[in-house]
Amino acid sequence: MNSIDAILPFLKESRRIIVTTHPNPDADALGSSLAMFHFLRGRGHDVTVVTPTDYPDFLKWMPGNDNVVIYDQCKEKCHQWVAECDIIFCLDFSMLDRLKELGEHVRNTSAKKAVIDHHLDPEDFADFEMLDTKASATAELIFDFILKMEGREEITTEIANCIYAGILTDTGGFKHPSTTAKVHRIVADLIDMGAAANFVNREIYDTNSVNRLRFLGYALLEKLVVRQDLKIAYFVISAKDFERFGLKTGDTEGLVNYALSIKDIVMATVIIEREEEVRLSFRSVGNYAVNLFANDHFEGGGHKNASGGVSHEALEPTISRFESLIDSFKDKYYIKQS
Ligand code: 5GP
Ligand code: MN
Repeated sequence: MNSIDAILPFLKESRRIIVTTHPNPDADALGSSLAMFHFLRGRGHDVTVVTPTDYPDFLKWMPGNDNVVIYDQCKEKCHQWVAECDIIFCLDFSMLDRLKELGEHVRNTSAKKAVIDHHLDPEDFADFEMLDTKASATAELIFDFILKMEGREEITTEIANCIYAGILTDTGGFKHPSTTAKVHRIVADLIDMGAAANFVNREIYDTNSVNRLRFLGYALLEKLVVRQDLKIAYFVISAKDFERFGLKTGDTEGLVNYALSIKDIVMATVIIEREEEVRLSFRSVGNYAVNLFANDHFEGGGHKNASGGVSHEALEPTISRFESLIDSFKDKYYIKQS
């Protein structure tokens, strides 16, 4: 294993590069990937961004979006690229399993692998690593990476906007404890470099469809379950709800935060019935570790205060299992040492 510094000589020559990220990319995943795309392309490399799956419309304003290849839509070509490229950048994830089928191709290629990530429990598969679980966003690490590469002057408006978007969303709008003074300094630099903070905020947060807002009202009124005794609140969203409101990928994003915003609540969950599985999204405050809860019970993980997982049971048994597990959540998942 090499630290990321060893990548410098490797990138001196023009390389064929794949940049990839986790499935259902969020603004950090996509922003980091596209910032890298622009930066490396600016240095004369041949760069392709491959995302495992499609992503919400509210991310499609990102500069470089039209160049993104969605793996689901052209698997064979992607397998060939992964096999033939010189290096693959894995951004905002550090366990190859998360890429499922694509992950096996990444594991088996002879191309070099570089990981830049801020998630806990990284897998040891890469030749070059830049890992920092304290980083607010992978996008913050991308900024650091560019500086390491002595590329400050190469940060264009496009790159600044992509990095800004990643930091903005992964800090929950500069609210999470990960929002250090350094984060604010980076953001100030990004604005000096041309990041359009107001534009990015509007594109991400203020482009709701009417359906989505009506769904939100419905979910808050009829779907929110509050267990004050356990300090836990959650939503269950069924496939029927999706159909009724014509919901699209990303329309449930942020819902979990409403449950966590209730006074005294320490853990919030959204349980979503998808076609092939039930997805769970967890958030918590302080020393309540939802990544451990996700890992113990829902094949998942993530960060201490934001994690996700999956259930292969149907919706009803998943809800029953979740409800029985949360009885002991406060006792079992309170971590004394942060
Ligand atoms: P979200 O609830 O926004 O989907 O995910 C919250 C966090 O948990 C993100 O940092 C995401 O990367 C992580 N996460 C979501 N789903 C999974 C999963 O299935 N496995 C792991 N290891 N992490 C996940
Ligand atoms: Mn992230």
